[in-house]
Amino acid sequence: MAQDDCIFCKIVLGLIPIAKIYEDDDIIAFLDISPIKPGHAVVIPKAHHENMLEMPASLAKPVHQALQTVGRALMAATGATGLNTLQNTHPVAGQSVFHVHWHLIPRHAGDGLEIWPQGSYASQEEMRDLANKIAGLAQA
Ligand code: 5GP
Ligand code: ZN
Repeated sequence: MAQDDCIFCKIVLGLIPIAKIYEDDDIIAFLDISPIKPGHAVVIPKAHHENMLEMPASLAKPVHQALQTVGRALMAATGATGLNTLQNTHPVAGQSVFHVHWHLIPRHAGDGLEIWPQGSYASQEEMRDLANKIAGLAQA
C-alpha cells in the first residue's frame, strides 16, 4: 500500500522521474540523485515498508536477487572491482527516506572512500558478555 508522504512510493507510482536501471514485479532500482560516486544505485521493494526490520522476510529473496543482478551490471558498466551494499535503518544510522532501500556503491581501487574506523573491546569478557546478551535476544 503506497504511503502519501513517501517519496519512494511516488517513484514506484511513476510520479517522480528517475534514472531507472532495473525493474521486476517486486523491485525497482535507480540511480541515487546525490551519488556518493557515479553509479551509486538504490534498490527498493515496490511495497512500502518503513525499514529493514519491518520488511517481511518473503521480500528478502527478490531483494537479494535484484542486488545481485544490479550489482553485477553496475560493476560491468563502471569498471568497478568491488561493491558496497549499505542499508540504513532509523535516523541515527543515516536513514532519511523511510521506505526500505539498499544502496549499491561501485568501488574502484584508490577511490578514496573510507569505511568507518575499527575499534576494540576493553576486554575479552566485555566482548563475550555482549555476545551472550545479543544471543539471548536473538532466539528465533
Ligand atoms: P538513506 O539516507 O535514507 O539511506 O538514503 C536515501 C537516498 O535516497 C539518499 O541517498 C538520497 O540521495 C536518495 N534520494 C532521495 N530522494 C530521491 C529522489 O527523488 N530521487 C533519487 N533518484 N534519489 C533520491
Ligand atoms: Zn513508500
